[in-house]
Amino acid sequence: MIIKGRTKVKEALSSSDYGKEFTLKGWVRTRRGSRNVAFIALNDGSTINSIQVVADVPVFGEELLKKITTGSCISVTGVLKESMGKGQNVEIVANKIEVYGTADPSAYPLQKKGHTLEFLREIAHLRPRTNTFGSILRIRHALAFAIHNYFNDKGFYYIHTPVITGADAEGAGEMFRVTTLDLSNPPMTNENKVDFSEDFFGKEANLTVSGQLEAELGALALSEVYTFGPTFRAENSNTPRHLAEFWMIEPEMAFYDIDDNMDLAEEFLKYLLVYILEHCREDLEFLNKMYDKELIERISHVVEKKFERITYTEAIDILSSSGRNFEFPTNWGADLQSEHERFLVEEHFKRPVTITDYPKTIKAFYMKQNDDNKTVRAMDVLFPKIGEIIGGSQREEIMERLVSRIEELGISKDDLWWYLDTRRFGTAPHSGFGLGFERLMLFVTGMSNIRDVIPFPRTPKNAEF
Ligand code: ATP
Ligand code: MN
Repeated sequence: MIIKGRTKVKEALSSSDYGKEFTLKGWVRTRRGSRNVAFIALNDGSTINSIQVVADVPVFGEELLKKITTGSCISVTGVLKESMGKGQNVEIVANKIEVYGTADPSAYPLQKKGHTLEFLREIAHLRPRTNTFGSILRIRHALAFAIHNYFNDKGFYYIHTPVITGADAEGAGEMFRVTTLDLSNPPMTNENKVDFSEDFFGKEANLTVSGQLEAELGALALSEVYTFGPTFRAENSNTPRHLAEFWMIEPEMAFYDIDDNMDLAEEFLKYLLVYILEHCREDLEFLNKMYDKELIERISHVVEKKFERITYTEAIDILSSSGRNFEFPTNWGADLQSEHERFLVEEHFKRPVTITDYPKTIKAFYMKQNDDNKTVRAMDVLFPKIGEIIGGSQREEIMERLVSRIEELGISKDDLWWYLDTRRFGTAPHSGFGLGFERLMLFVTGMSNIRDVIPFPRTPKNAEF
């Protein structure tokens, strides 16, 4: 396929049309060679592999070749040949080279190989040009595509929930305010509080922490829906697993109970992992070689194993009798910490674990209450190396129970009138969950810091690019 007069490197590399002329465009990874011949490794992002361009020095002249340094952008027209050299099957023998953009070797930050991931974070605008980030971005794309594919095939509808929300009761964490008020001189009420009735939306507004409440409105009309969008949490937690802006996939299904919800989560995760194993092999092999020698094995292992399903109470029993000295307490009622989650997954069960029936005190108001009056029908899916990757629940569909929980927690009922209307009119049993896209990316790429699996990470004190 020739687009805009060029063939992609990926296609040229798998071609055996020897003798045929191709035009390739891309960025130079390296140039080496002798007085007579230059070898240029050219990459256009279509694959991790670069194609070797062979250029006759006397033909093109020193002057032109001098401009072709690491990071420069060129167009090459040449003939495809079987390669005699090691490490590639084909090469392009150049007939014509055009330089689109040079990259001064004394200034280009990616002049040398082998930069640390920390350094690359400081040049997030250029890191897509590295093999590592090329792989990560291609996998990220494939994963997003597979998510839509999965739900589309199952008849779920993609609904777009708002990024700006006036509901401050979502309850999933600290929010970022959205305002057009003059912060140095805001309008004040008689009680000397900021008067948000003068603000853009006539009330307080924030960036959403989750699309769930709105997705529920969709599920109670279209049966099975999902959201996939950015969510924002102003948690000041500088951990390798938290971002201030991250993407979340939130399916919400009418007529699903907690077991159906667990089945869906497991099938969905396995589908995505199989998709990546099948479609991103070269990138996975690269990451496996460079960063995590057990990556492909770990992904395959999760695909093969039935996820363990236990209750929170059972989890506490296992942790308490493990003989382990955990940093955080393991008494009934305490939230599970990452050390506990990883013990259960990596050491005790050696497979993903879905935990249900958490104490209601550590979970959100909308979760379905069990008859014991102590626990709710929550489910967290825990993964090796990651800990919590999915958080979900069956939702409380009974109006009286939902309202009593809202009141117990001191949440403003008035702000949720629209949500409560779904329980008032044609309520139905329903369930859903939220999958953190970047947590899944961590698992699939073997990266250990969440800042390295999103193009432009937003974390405390960091929004440069
Ligand atoms: P955690 O306890 O790990 O902070 P949470 O209980 O706050 O997670 P939920 O509110 O249940 O998470 O959100 C659903 C999913 O979104 C989580 O399972 C996780 O995969 C992901 N997630 C939550 N917070 C973040 C964050 N700050 N950055 C990236 N992903 C996140
Ligand atoms: Mn959190």
